[in-house]
Amino acid sequence: MTSVDLYELAAWIDTTLQAGQFTDYCPNGLQVEGRPHVRHIIAGVTATQALIDVAIEKKADAILVHHGWFWKNENPCIRGPKRTRLAGLLAHDISLLAYHLPLDAHPTLGNNAQLARVLGFEPERDSQGAPQCCGPENLIWLGNPGANQTLTSIGQTVARQLNREPLLMGEPHRPIRRIAWCTGGAQGMMDAAVAAGVDAYLTGEVSEPTTHLARETGVAFIGAGHHATERYGVQALGAAIAEKFGIRCEFVDIDNPV
Ligand SMILES: [Zn+2]
Repeated sequence: MTSVDLYELAAWIDTTLQAGQFTDYCPNGLQVEGRPHVRHIIAGVTATQALIDVAIEKKADAILVHHGWFWKNENPCIRGPKRTRLAGLLAHDISLLAYHLPLDAHPTLGNNAQLARVLGFEPERDSQGAPQCCGPENLIWLGNPGANQTLTSIGQTVARQLNREPLLMGEPHRPIRRIAWCTGGAQGMMDAAVAAGVDAYLTGEVSEPTTHLARETGVAFIGAGHHATERYGVQALGAAIAEKFGIRCEFVDIDNPV
């Protein structure tokens, strides 16, 4: 069976996603080092115990996720569930590869690009074909949601494609011609989407002030789920790795209602 050197794999992903270009809340790349050769990767949204258990059971060499560990604002001590997770990886020599913002932002493999594909949104592009973005780190994408769309019809598409009922705020039948989206917990960036002049903003999570911003600006809001909006980037990256190195990369969806 084909294998790739762990550090070669990590370096390729780092370069592909331009991981060094981002100011992030966690380290991007190889977070925990396991065995030196990788034949089989388990990919998922978050490096939880459930995902680690699957990787152990399937005798995988590495885990690839969007949400890894070692976040800036968390207690760094290795206790409780954190200890159990890390002990499982080390005992079975499994690596952890994690890419946060670089995996949101990549123009083709990223969560925003892949969510647009899944929902049928057409990103606005410049003359070079680069997606038109706004907001902090250019994380918000702008585009066309398709012909004759309303909040109701977009809500139906989201429910069908992501298999999860979204939270909708705004006038149900007003036309939505231009939409902004950012996967994950980007409700705090809605003001940048409003400033860009869109009819609707879609992200994963919602906060109390989001309601007031939507009501007072008239920009519709779609809360489509943090997990649900971030399933697709890591799958696209996994497929690119499988193609590049001829190794096995298997996505495992550990359901999360948030
Ligand atoms: Zn996220």
